[in-house]
Amino acid sequence: MIDLAHLKNSNAAGVGLYRTEIPFMGRSKFPGVDEQTRLYNQVLDNANGKPVVFCTLDIGGDKVLPYCNIENEDNPSMGWRAIRVALDRPASLRRQLRAMIRAAAGRELYIMFPMVAEVPEFVQARAFVDIELTRGKERGAVVPKQVCVGVMLEVPSLAFQLNALCPLVDFISVGSNDLCQFLFASDRGNPRLADRFDILSPIILTVLKNIVTDCDKANVPLNLCGEMVGRLLEAMALIGLGFKWLSMAGSSIGRVKEMVLGMDMSEVQHAF
Ligand code: PEP
Ligand code: MG
Repeated sequence: MIDLAHLKNSNAAGVGLYRTEIPFMGRSKFPGVDEQTRLYNQVLDNANGKPVVFCTLDIGGDKVLPYCNIENEDNPSMGWRAIRVALDRPASLRRQLRAMIRAAAGRELYIMFPMVAEVPEFVQARAFVDIELTRGKERGAVVPKQVCVGVMLEVPSLAFQLNALCPLVDFISVGSNDLCQFLFASDRGNPRLADRFDILSPIILTVLKNIVTDCDKANVPLNLCGEMVGRLLEAMALIGLGFKWLSMAGSSIGRVKEMVLGMDMSEVQHAF
């Protein structure tokens, strides 16, 4: 809600990643459908017609809900988290989707699923969106004008399934924080490893370029979010690779925009 106030000042096109677990983390129990509906409604009202991409709950890993029983795991960031929890405990996912659908009545709704590793996980998750839409319609509720459903591409295995995935999604958003952590098997939260791998190494650039090529071929809108976008050189490289949408912290938008306006697009594209 604090960042949303800057949406207008920064003239951002919208919100590329709304992490729904953040408001959940500040509570003492799971918010119910009504409470979530009020929250998402407030977010959409404050976005004032600009698109907001709601990422479904990404709990587990580094994001712990004190009231949610996830036992200690040896590798929590690769453990029972995000869509894995949602598909095993679909009641919470359905409540969250129901609240988003209610909150977006008559408006556009963008829903994104985190940590998808295989196409069937997306298919299952998307089916719950359809179930909740049908439920709403059967009850005579006003449903969203349009619902776009996408994935956060942050598990490397998904980058190798784009031929199968692209026809099924309305958009894809690369989650570069997790994608890079898993590509290098390097804990994103460990300061000792922070400078060990170059995020602009040919490995990352090749993986990202292949994603751009596959999505362009299939005409799937592609975004990239993560800490790297807020850094000027990285943002410039991403534009050179062909990313047309970048999602970053509100505080980075001004300087990245300034850099973009001053860069020579043809020269940067030529480098890739
Ligand atoms: C990511 O993984 O790159 C991302 C943007 O999401 P989060 O930082 O919430 O994992
Ligand atoms: Mg992530």
